[in-house]
Amino acid sequence: MAVLEVVKFPDPRLRAPCTDVQDIDDGIRELVRDMTDTMYALNAAGIAAIQVGRPERIFIIDGRVATGDEQADPLVFINPEVVETGRGDEVSDEGCLSFPDVFIEVKRPRWAKVHATNLEGQRFEAEGEGLFGRALQHETDHLNGKLMYDMVGMVKKEMIKRKMKRWHNEQANERAKETASSN
Ligand SMILES: [Zn+2]
Repeated sequence: MAVLEVVKFPDPRLRAPCTDVQDIDDGIRELVRDMTDTMYALNAAGIAAIQVGRPERIFIIDGRVATGDEQADPLVFINPEVVETGRGDEVSDEGCLSFPDVFIEVKRPRWAKVHATNLEGQRFEAEGEGLFGRALQHETDHLNGKLMYDMVGMVKKEMIKRKMKRWHNEQANERAKETASSN
């Protein structure tokens, strides 16, 4: 089990477009396991590979979010594409592991359909509304270097920047305290 460090806004890695996975090998399987451990440890609905610093086109979504089944395994999306969205727009609160403690209203199409490859190398289709539909779009955006930050107006952007600055400062203070107490 490995819980990986999550890349936080405004780290420029979050802006890098990710590249297609060519071979689903042991390295990719290990990455997906570590992403799963990280997602569960941090209570997230989904996580993209770039959020743990890996520029591959992979994301996973919590099985409960994807299927409603408490016992379901996370759904793994390799080389995913959003192929269709619709059924009107919906405004709902959104969070992101790369923006700790930030929840903002984001408007997105209510429904989305994604084509992707699973860990066995088979292409599949997934579609959903509500939280699942939102997660499909949010996570695919990550692979294109796009963040929920980009989808809100100036006032909210400033609020996010302030909150994240405060968060990074608090982390730096914590680290300084730890260093001082270990000396
Ligand atoms: Zn995110």
